[in-house]
Amino acid sequence: MTAIRVSNENAELEAGLDVAVIGAGPAGLGCALALQACGVQRMAIFDRSEVGASFARWPRQMRLITPSFHSNPFRQPDLNAITPKTSPADFLHGEHPTGREYALYLKAVATHYGLPVREGTGVEEIKTSRAGFDVITSNGVVRARNVIWAAGEFSRPDHGGIKGAHHCRHNGEVADWRLLRGGEYTIIGGYESGIDAAVNLAWLGKNVKVLSRGEPWHVSSPDPSVALSPYTIDRLKAARLEAPGSIHFYKNADISEVTRQRGRWRVHDRAGGVYESETAPILCTGFHTALLPVRHLFQEAEGQLIFSEEADESTLTPGLFYSGPSLVHRGSSFCFIYKFRSRFGVVARAIAQRLGLRWETALRPWQDHGFMLEDLSCCVDCQCAVAATEEREVPPVAEYETLKVREVPAHV
Ligand SMILES: Cc1cc2nc3c(=O)[nH]c(=O)nc-3n(C[C@H](O)[C@H](O)[C@H](O)COP(=O)(O)OP(=O)(O)OC[C@H]3O[C@@H](n4cnc5c(N)ncnc54)[C@H](O)[C@@H]3O)c2cc1C
Repeated sequence: MTAIRVSNENAELEAGLDVAVIGAGPAGLGCALALQACGVQRMAIFDRSEVGASFARWPRQMRLITPSFHSNPFRQPDLNAITPKTSPADFLHGEHPTGREYALYLKAVATHYGLPVREGTGVEEIKTSRAGFDVITSNGVVRARNVIWAAGEFSRPDHGGIKGAHHCRHNGEVADWRLLRGGEYTIIGGYESGIDAAVNLAWLGKNVKVLSRGEPWHVSSPDPSVALSPYTIDRLKAARLEAPGSIHFYKNADISEVTRQRGRWRVHDRAGGVYESETAPILCTGFHTALLPVRHLFQEAEGQLIFSEEADESTLTPGLFYSGPSLVHRGSSFCFIYKFRSRFGVVARAIAQRLGLRWETALRPWQDHGFMLEDLSCCVDCQCAVAATEEREVPPVAEYETLKVREVPAHV
């Protein structure tokens, strides 16, 4: 694959970079644009695949749950925009882009702003050095004074600790729901991805069972990182009313293992119960943190990585920043684009300051449009002034117990 911009590229890399950005998704590109505005010249964005690769690999039918709307001129940028002045709604003419469409938006932004993206260059390791960092890429070692890790979560499916997960299919590995054969499906996991899978399969006429430990479809929270999004709830209602297939929910399903016997799949729970599935269960068990490969370079407390509140920097390794959905401040997750983009300006400012660059005027649009959030009180105060109504339609749910076909001793 070719880089989007090739200008003095090799000379820049040999001389060392001021900033190496790892990952050309919304986080990496968004930070790079803010840095570019500050006048950072010696910068490269490395992506082992291509711009927007994670989105391009989403199941064909999957759409962003966060809505797009071109409200930017009123200083309320499109929720899925990565710069103050662009809007996926305006570019794509739609409210909930598919992954492929959103990847097109990212590519258009990278090309329009001439970002120095080096596609097809994976970063294998980051080592600290006297001058900053040695970035070990698939095309050689690059020195950099600062690194922004923005490598995303999508390429690291989490199989939820389920033994025999290789007998299943993770939803992140489904290219197109239409390609799945069979009429009955079992989904393990009932959050956004699980409901998305169930809705898509129901519209294809399949009968779906959603097994979940808790009842995420019943969670009511003002924080969209915790409860199902309004878009998902609407789609679920429509599918249950009109789709040719069916969706049934089962709670208290603590699945520990999946085995395969005589062409059928057996789903085992921790209590020793077994339930049989006609098709390979679909794991909607999430993704591992984006920081897995650089975890050792961050301080950790109670299993949670620590980021500086000033600039989302490692408190252990100065010069190493993180941008993306694994960001957490004050116990609050920045898992959506509109959340983590709010820190693009603070990361860019910290780096610009250290490079001796003026950032005040350059970052004004980021500051004015909510891309430079410094007051982190939003992390602990997300209550809506008006309490949520009690009147809401919730799908009927059965106990997982009722699904088991037979009990077997725990040791079998
Ligand atoms: C199924 C799913 C649905 C989601 N839906 C929404 C939504 O509707 N709205 C929303 O706001 N957020 C959503 N999110 C959150 C989503 O993860 C982020 O919004 C977005 O993808 C994160 O951006 P990113 O740039 O951090 O990561 P990514 O978009 O994953 O980009 C990371 C890039 O890094 C590259 N890369 C990875 N490892 C390396 C390496 N070692 N070396 C070089 N390059 C590397 C990849 O090729 C990729 O291009 C969803 C997430 C998932 C998993």
